[in-house]
Amino acid sequence: MLTVLLATHNPGKVKEIRSILSDLPLEIRDLSGMPDSPEVVEDGATLEENALKKASEVYERFHLLTLADDSGLEVYSLDMKPGVRSARFAGEKATYSDNNRKLLQALSGLPRDQRGARFRCVAAVAGKGIMETTEGVCTGRIAEEAYGKGGFGYDPIFIPDGFDLTFAELPSDIKNRISHRARAFNVVRDILLQYASNLYR
Ligand code: IMP
Repeated sequence: MLTVLLATHNPGKVKEIRSILSDLPLEIRDLSGMPDSPEVVEDGATLEENALKKASEVYERFHLLTLADDSGLEVYSLDMKPGVRSARFAGEKATYSDNNRKLLQALSGLPRDQRGARFRCVAAVAGKGIMETTEGVCTGRIAEEAYGKGGFGYDPIFIPDGFDLTFAELPSDIKNRISHRARAFNVVRDILLQYASNLYR
């Protein structure tokens, strides 16, 4: 069985990636179970740079096939912000609710057709002889206020296209079918299958 290491401490991401890849015969580890994991500074100018940096630094430390995810929320009427700065939108130590509050305030009074947004996820795979990225996008809009208790981050204020509920209100299996992360990691699935078939050939 192939072992992969998720280069994240975020329990929300770990849960979702485990669920998205649950049909593969993988042993999935994450950094919560690893001693002395590197503190990767996410200072890249793009999601791609950050995802590659996380995957390669963690691979160099543990020499296990490593998967990383860097994601952001892009709001069209804010020139695609907060984007790569999604975690720090309301400041360096901002909580999820600080960021949600700041975003709702920035869009306050805007009608539905000016609340369009998309989540973008870049997944990176780093291992011996392999370094690849994939991308997934989920389009939708920003709600008028926060609703729901599920998920994490901006989920309570993001309504995906085709639904009238936020990601935090929708069942997790729906998010894990249509999300930016699901789309990026469904391509990672194909990369892992190809990688495993080369290993065992
Ligand atoms: P990261 O840099 O990939 O860890 O993510 C940056 C920020 O984007 C996180 O702190 C979350 O606020 C937000 N984010 C990433 N993925 C999601 C998601 O699936 N739902 C809601 N917010 C997310």
